[in-house]
Formats: sequence, structure tokens, C-alpha cells
Amino acid sequence: MKKVLIIGGGLAGCFVATRLQDTCAVTIVTKGDRRESNSMLAQGGIAASLDPGDSPQSHEEDTMKAGVYHNDEAAVKQLVTLGPKLIKALIAAGMTFDRHPDGPLSFGLEGAHSHHRILHANGDQTGEALTSFVQQQLHHVIWQTQVEALQLVVQNGACQGVLVRHLATGKQEVLVADAVVLATGGLGNLFDFTTNDRTVTGDGIALAAREGVKLTDMAFVQFHPTLLSIDHHCYGLITEAIRGAGAILVDENDTKIMAGVPCADLAPRDVVARHLTAWQAQGHQLFLDISKVANFEQHFPGVTANLDKHHVPFRQTSRIPIQPGAHFMMGGVAADLNAGTSLPRLWAVGEVACNRVHGANRLASNSLLDCLVSGQKAADSIQQMPEQALSPMTVTTPPARPIHLPALAALQKRAWADLGVERTRPQLQAFLRWLQQFNYAQLAAANLSADELTRANLCLCSQLIAQAALAEPKSLGAHYMKEDAHATD
Ligand SMILES: Cc1cc2nc3c(=O)[nH]c(=O)nc-3n(C[C@H](O)[C@H](O)[C@H](O)COP(=O)(O)OP(=O)(O)OC[C@H]3O[C@@H](n4cnc5c(N)ncnc54)[C@H](O)[C@@H]3O)c2cc1C
Repeated sequence: MKKVLIIGGGLAGCFVATRLQDTCAVTIVTKGDRRESNSMLAQGGIAASLDPGDSPQSHEEDTMKAGVYHNDEAAVKQLVTLGPKLIKALIAAGMTFDRHPDGPLSFGLEGAHSHHRILHANGDQTGEALTSFVQQQLHHVIWQTQVEALQLVVQNGACQGVLVRHLATGKQEVLVADAVVLATGGLGNLFDFTTNDRTVTGDGIALAAREGVKLTDMAFVQFHPTLLSIDHHCYGLITEAIRGAGAILVDENDTKIMAGVPCADLAPRDVVARHLTAWQAQGHQLFLDISKVANFEQHFPGVTANLDKHHVPFRQTSRIPIQPGAHFMMGGVAADLNAGTSLPRLWAVGEVACNRVHGANRLASNSLLDCLVSGQKAADSIQQMPEQALSPMTVTTPPARPIHLPALAALQKRAWADLGVERTRPQLQAFLRWLQQFNYAQLAAANLSADELTRANLCLCSQLIAQAALAEPKSLGAHYMKEDAHATD
């Protein structure tokens, strides 16, 4: 039986596992518990053209437009055609999405979608409902939780396994496999303000980069316009679906911030995030006015619970204090339409991968769909590969050296300032010069504590983002160079 090792227990990794568990020996390694992932946090929903009157072509057009046509057209076609089939199969298997009282599926609207096509579950708790459902389908899979991937093991030009560490004991071992699937998610924790789960720290991208696996589109990080913001700290996402339901962005004077911008409050995320950042830089406070949203608490129970947890008096004021923050990584490990990478026997699925389906800016609610589609394609491709003769392996760790790494908070602050919503060439160059004082590139993962490895991985990711941003010829989608704007204004 083929051995398949999946790194990451979010929707993408778990969906691959459901597809392979009956024919392969599947192990999922995840560094937190089973519930720790961005997938569990997803609020708005999953996009699919299942409403009569909608079409895959319309979904494709919206995806390309939001991605500023930087997308791979074949990947988008695959997403919008295979995605709805996989969702129908999940519904047939018992997954429950929200429905109207008389039966039909209820479709929400989010920014830059030209049709109501966002399926949701338990209101704004789609990610938890969907990921839990997929996890419940896993019957023949070995879970290794609190186990962290440290290094890809590459021999004879192929990925033969992964060096991992058991976080409770510190024990390290090589897990060998016929196929390794990276499903480690994005890198939101590089930034001061983020929506991401604490375990999502760019590890898969760093692991791949250290072995010379091809990466692509690293300049493109999506910043979400609306994170709950209290005293300059962020406390989770305020889903865009609330704007889809009628909420508007205002400042302390009730000025409608997005008035006059095409598509206004439902403009693509990069446009809204930049507009809000500019408004904030002028000294304004930012709010989401929810006074026009019918049955807010009923439709958005997860957001309501979070607001109550942080004592936000939204029932009295109809306002939620917000600000933009890091949300999603469009770039990552370069992957083909079958989720294959440049390294034989290594696949990449979900947010860690870049098959260029999202282009320069992801269309809302397309990433859960991509987790299913890239997961299915990876599983199909792994089914077709021949079985290997595997033998136990060890890796030699170089001698430990002194460690010079920035404090996490310092790195996050600088990344927010220099790699964030608006960038300039001098800032990017200064960021790279600042990074040079640290020796993250010379350190062996096996010699680092979990905390040190996180910082080393995020340093490497930040270097790759800064270099890719400098190499981009012009502003595009989520990658926005301020001086470009001045040149063309
Ligand atoms: C707050 C929030 C709301 C969102 N809302 C939506 C939405 O409504 N619709 C939508 O389409 N998308 C949404 N997204 C984006 C979407 O949730 C993610 O892109 C998607 O879930 C990523 O899935 P994934 O399986 O690739 O990664 P994740 O779900 O992030 O899972 C990554 C897994 O890898 C593990 N891991 C990481 N590093 C290691 C390591 N070194 N060793 C072992 N394990 C490791 C993590 O612990 C985790 O289990 C949202 C994201 C956030 C943060």
C-alpha cells in the first residue's frame, strides 16, 4: 500500500485524506490540534455557481477580474467546473449548508461577485462546519497532532519524507512516504494585524524554499479590509458577507468611506483595504455600520459571539470598529493543475500552493473551493503514481551555531509597515537590509526550538515577499507600489 504523508490538518489536507484513505496508508501531521487551522475560522462561505441563473462562466469572469487577469485561465476553469461537482457530492454525503425555510440553498453575496453564489453553513461558521464534516469522514487515517514538520527529506532528486518533531517530547524522526502533500496554509502571522490562526506561519513555503522547490507570485498577499480592531489590536475577522448584507464602511463622522469608488463597499478587497488604509492615515477611525443589516445576530452568530467576547457595544451603536489586516497568501509553492510541484513526489494543496487560480487578488470565498479542487486533483495524481520501495531514513543535522533572529513582534511590525497594504521601493530595500543582520538562512531547522523555527520561517518568507515585490514590474492587484500610483496619478 502506498504511504501518503499529509502535512497540515485544515480543509485541503483533510480533503486529500478522504480521497486516499481507502487505497493508501495516510498519515496527517499537524502542529496544533485538529481544530487549529484557518479552515476552521472561515466565515463567509464557499463560492460555487449552483444557483439557477448563475454559471461557471460568470464565476470564472469574476475570479479573473478580481485577480486582475494574472490568473491561470485553465486553473480558474478547473475551479469553477470541478468545484460545484465536489460540493454537490459533499451535500449528497450529508454536508449541510444553510437553506431558505422552503428548502432551496441560500446563497450569500460578497465583494466582486456578480451573483449571489456563496454557500454558507451555520450563518458565518462555514469553515468550522465544512472542515469538521470532512474530518468526520476520516476513518482510516493516522493523525499525528502536536507534531511539526521541520524539513523535507530529499534524496535522489525526489521528496522521500519529512523530518518532524513531536512538540510534547522534542523527539525528532523522519517519516518516509511515497507521496508528501504540503497543506500547511499561508503566512498571515508574518504581519502585526492578521486574521490567521496562530499555527499558520509560512512553514510549508519555507520548507519548500529551503529545498529549492519552485515558488511563485510571492508578492501577492491579500489584506482583508475588516478585522475587529480595539486599541490597535486585532481580534479576528469581520466577514465581508456583512457588507454583502448591507453594511457600509464609515468613519467617526459617519462619512461613507467607499462612496464614489466603483462597486463601493463591495469593491475588490485590495481596493477597499487601500482606501481604508489611506483614510486611516489621515487620522480617521474606521467603522462598519451595520444598521441596515437585517437580523444581524441571527445571520452572523460567530461574529456576534466575538463582538460580545470583546465587549463591543454594537447593539447600541450599530458600529463595529475595524481596520485592514493580513488575510490570505495568493503566492506560494508553484503547483500545476494536479497540485504537483517542481520536486517529484511532493504535492502542494490549498493556501500553501500557488496554482495561480487566484491571480493577483483572490476573489472572496474561492479559497475553500480551491482546497477541495486542488485536494481532489492531488489525490487523483497520487493514485496514479507507482508505489516505491521505502526504507527507514535518518538525516544528518549540521552542528548548531549561534542564533540571531528578530523578536516576532519586531518582525511583524516591520513587515506590516514595509510589506503591507502599500509598499514603496525604498521601504522594500530597507526591509531587506534590515533582515541581513539575522542568520535565519544559515540555521538548520532541527537545531531550533519551535519558537525559533517560526521566526526563521517567517524571516525567510518575508525575504521572498520583499524580493518578489521588488521584481514585480508594476502595481497589480494586492501588490501595490505607492510610487507607481504617484507616477500615474
Ligand atoms: C478568519 C478567516 C476567514 C476566512 N474566510 C474564508 C471564507 O469565508 N471563504 C473562503 O473561501 N476562505 C476563507 N478564508 C481563507 C481560507 O480559510 C483558507 O485559505 C483555507 O482554509 C486554507 O486551508 P488550508 O487547508 O490550505 O490551510 P489551513 O486551514 O490554514 O491549515 C493549515 C494546517 O497546517 C498546519 N501546519 C502549519 N505548519 C505546519 C507544520 N510545520 N507542521 C505541521 N502542521 C503545520 C496548521 O496547524 C493547520 O492545521 C478565511 C481565512 C481566515 C483566516
